[in-house]
Amino acid sequence: MTCPDCSAELAHCHGTLLTWLAECTDPACADPDPLNHNLIITTPEDLAPATHLPHAA
Ligand SMILES: [Zn+2]
Ligand SMILES: [Zn+2]
Repeated sequence: MTCPDCSAELAHCHGTLLTWLAECTDPACADPDPLNHNLIITTPEDLAPATHLPHAA
């Protein structure tokens, strides 16, 4: 997967950051920093449609 940040060689992640858990949906993500994420979810309610998350329970 590539995006403009990839082309710019910026430190970033393609996963979705779950801010209330300070975790990311990408298992390889080592830095759950909002600045590194284009996709950020701030409340568990926003996860409702998703079913593939590792810590949804
Ligand atoms: Zn990228
Ligand atoms: Zn991440």
